[in-house]
Formats: sequence, structure tokens, C-alpha cells
Amino acid sequence: MPPVPERLAKVRFVTDEEEPHIKVNQAIAKATGTGKLLCAVCPAQVYQEEPDGTISVEYAACLECGTCLAVAAPGSLEWHYPRGGFGVQFRDG
Ligand code: SF4
Repeated sequence: MPPVPERLAKVRFVTDEEEPHIKVNQAIAKATGTGKLLCAVCPAQVYQEEPDGTISVEYAACLECGTCLAVAAPGSLEWHYPRGGFGVQFRDG
């Protein structure tokens, strides 16, 4: 099997510029510590903590793995799959 970087190089993304599929509730994320958790667990580094403590979201890089949903405090994260035709496209071979 090829190494992980080689396999990930085949992944393609179609970005939905009109409708982000991820939104963070900044107040809840900060109050619960979820913001730092999102930054720590996302394998695609979609979440970044800014100097003012807010969490920025680079949703175009999302691999749709669901990890952030599993750890987010209730109300801190709005996440749904991208609209049809958008999002990540995994390719094998
Ligand atoms: S679904 Fe996975 S890749 Fe996408 S933002 Fe959440 S943790 Fe990151």
C-alpha cells in the first residue's frame, strides 16, 4: 500500500463558496473549551485559534471524518455534509 501522503495527494475538494458546512458558536466554544479541542483533533487542521481566542474555520479542507462532531460540546458546532456535488472526493487508484 502507498504511504499516507501519497494516498492523500489523490484527494480532491470541490468548495461550496456560497454555503459553508461548518460554523462555530464562538461564545459556547470558548466557554466550554471546545474551541481548543477542535483545533487539537481535526486531522485536516480546519480549525485554528486566532490571537483573540476566536476559532477560524477553513471548511474547504474538511475531510468529512466526523471527529469534530464527536468531541464538540452541545451548541458549539453546526456541522452538516456539504451540498450535493461539493466537498471532499476520495479517490483510490
Ligand atoms: S469532519 Fe473531520 S476533517 Fe472535517 S472539520 Fe471535522 S474533524 Fe476536521
